[in-house]
Amino acid sequence: MEEIEERALGLIRRGKDGILQKQLRLELGVDGRRCARIVRTLLDAKSVGRELVTTDGVRAYLIRFAGGVGKYELLVAGTKFDPCVGCIDECNPASCARLNKWIKALGVSL
Ligand code: SF4
Repeated sequence: MEEIEERALGLIRRGKDGILQKQLRLELGVDGRRCARIVRTLLDAKSVGRELVTTDGVRAYLIRFAGGVGKYELLVAGTKFDPCVGCIDECNPASCARLNKWIKALGVSL
């Protein structure tokens, strides 16, 4: 899976009720054709499902996460691997800059 497809899957997973394809396109910073190809790849892998919905009178595709959790998926935020894996430093998670930076990459607000 390409990095941009993994990013797309991460965004889709975080949307509890799914994400509109046009919103996904904006968040990925790609054009509509590129976004459609990314979604097609994820559909073919059965990682996501897609349905046609109407929002504000406009029809749009809603993309929802459908796949299971990949082997290392929960350890990756964007392109950053969990810094705790293999770490042998003195541990204080509340003040660990590497962990906090990784959590921010998840898009989670603390
Ligand atoms: S929180 Fe920081 S110090 Fe602790 S294991 Fe993770 S990376 Fe290492």
